[in-house]
Amino acid sequence: MENLTDLETRPDCAVIALNGVTREYSGRAGVVRALEDASFSIVAGEWVAITGPSGSGKSTLVNLIGCLDRPTRGELFIDGVNTASLSPTELDRFRADKVGFIFQQFHLIPYLSALENVMLAQYFHSMTDEKEARAALERVGLGHRAEHLPSELSGGEQQRVCIARALINHPPILLADEPTGNLDAANQKIVAELLQNLHAQGHTIVMVTHDPEMAALAQRRIALSHGKVFCHPVSGPVVSLRK
Ligand code: ADP
Ligand code: MG
Repeated sequence: MENLTDLETRPDCAVIALNGVTREYSGRAGVVRALEDASFSIVAGEWVAITGPSGSGKSTLVNLIGCLDRPTRGELFIDGVNTASLSPTELDRFRADKVGFIFQQFHLIPYLSALENVMLAQYFHSMTDEKEARAALERVGLGHRAEHLPSELSGGEQQRVCIARALINHPPILLADEPTGNLDAANQKIVAELLQNLHAQGHTIVMVTHDPEMAALAQRRIALSHGKVFCHPVSGPVVSLRK
């Protein structure tokens, strides 16, 4: 278990801070404790991999960090804000501002072009800006594919559109769920390099992955087992990032 210093666990220093977070699901079969007493924090600029076997609570944790769900108990701070203090409407707005989602299944709108998919995210956030949307596609190396439909793009290209969409509203957190899970080796490499570039530019990346190679790119691993969190020591030069 990593020893978190007081500084790192202070919610105002961390982009993400969990304090005794538990999430239980109640159903006919009883109560499932999907996440149990999780306490850790992630500071700006970190790249963290969330790993663990199926059913260990990864999606539960991602849904909480992504403000798609709320803890049953405990406190969750995102960018210094206790999410429990937000109303459902405020939480929707908060999520749009704070989190850019990158999904394994891409979730692009099939009848919209790459450019329109990115602009749709702008529209839901505030207002569309075609120039900015084109620049986001150029940033992921897809300027020349802006007018293409998702079906006209390779899996790797679709995932790069998703990354452009995740970046477009400048969220402090990029939350990726198995970002290379549906990609072949060549496209996985391209997406991995893109994430490495984004990390080098200072983005905070939280990534669920089954792939040890992808997990090894992150600076730190948060391993889940039966809903319990085990933080692994950092492997990269994190000290310089913790100003
Ligand atoms: P992972 O993403 O690591 O596969 P999940 O977070 O999806 O794990 O699930 C963790 C545990 O919580 C599992 O036992 C799963 O069956 C249970 N679970 C997840 N979502 C629900 C739900 N909506 N209702 C009841 N149980 C759930
Ligand atoms: Mg899952």
